[in-house]
Amino acid sequence: MISRIQSNAGLLHIKGAEILGGDSRFNGEMLCGGGKILAMGPELSIGKLPAETLDAGGCILVPGLVDGLAHITGGGGEGGFATRTPEMQLADAVAGGVTTLVGALGTDAVTQTLPALLAKARALREQGLTCFCYTGSYQVPVRTLLGAIDEDMVLIDLFVGVGEVAISDHRSSHPSRDELIRLAAQARVGGLLSGKAGTVMVHVGDAPGMLDPLREVARHSSIPLTQFWPTHINRNADLLADGIRYAREGGSIDFTASTTDELIAAGDIPCVEALPRALAEGVPLERVTFTSDGHASLPRFDAQGCLVGLQVGRMDSLLKAVRACVEVAGLPLEDAIAPVTRTPATLLKLPHKGRLTVGADADILALETGTLELRHLVAGGRPLMRDGRIEPGGYFD
Ligand code: ZN
Repeated sequence: MISRIQSNAGLLHIKGAEILGGDSRFNGEMLCGGGKILAMGPELSIGKLPAETLDAGGCILVPGLVDGLAHITGGGGEGGFATRTPEMQLADAVAGGVTTLVGALGTDAVTQTLPALLAKARALREQGLTCFCYTGSYQVPVRTLLGAIDEDMVLIDLFVGVGEVAISDHRSSHPSRDELIRLAAQARVGGLLSGKAGTVMVHVGDAPGMLDPLREVARHSSIPLTQFWPTHINRNADLLADGIRYAREGGSIDFTASTTDELIAAGDIPCVEALPRALAEGVPLERVTFTSDGHASLPRFDAQGCLVGLQVGRMDSLLKAVRACVEVAGLPLEDAIAPVTRTPATLLKLPHKGRLTVGADADILALETGTLELRHLVAGGRPLMRDGRIEPGGYFD
């Protein structure tokens, strides 16, 4: 178990698969080393290189998934202490095909803290994943580690933005327009100074204002809509309609892949319906993402705001959403997978993630052709799942 930690990935030769490259699909092989894709082509002459071979016959290789919002230390708590959700383990991400993720605090930024979030992100990195964090919290003024958003972003490598900042929700602090402007400006400058995205991940609730607070920021400041990444846009039909308008105005929107039958009955629109609807109504594919909201609580409140049910968000919801978009909605795999690979990688300014090209990070999924079930997972050039079996890696998995 200990051997994986801080050990370097050796050479890995992936054979016998179809490869979903940048714009093309071809049968070929791949050589990875030093955590990167070194070569890719119909046939590679490896010679006597000491490479481990991974047989991916009958599979299609796609990029490892990029999850822009996961509650890696757990979240919840809306029904009292016993409803705090458990923290994520390495195996949760691996089983869900996630190789890059961004951790965030949720409603509870009192007992869930930024130091704990950073420690968990570092643990997941030691175990082979690429994990970043958002500084901040639901509530504005947001929690920070060093006293300001820009200081956190400039001085702490893993902070890539701020979030989940809550708007239009009874659990939010009901931030004013000026508070949101100042917050977004700090994230923007923090991003500029540190070469990071400076994204403001925004939790949008089901209150009537919907996305108007973000439009107000863009109207009354020089902060563009693209600074924000609003999530939970598929939580009801009205918000989805507003989100589609917002994306046509130039913003990016995020759908939460974790859902339940109860939430769907209460109006939640699963990704398999929300994505085709957005595309049909003129939203460009590169403005839509899915995140798992993994290990968040999925609470259900009645009309009086009383908690009436609670489940936990799942990391494997992303791959299930992609599969449903192909099998049920009939989207090509290239399009169905964009909201969990190249689009979030672009939004997060991670050019080496979310694509299979020479020089990109060797984060690779081998999905069985036809069923799209996950057979192998490689993160940073190292196999973390072989033939559907997760390698022992987390101490507590
Ligand atoms: Zn949220």
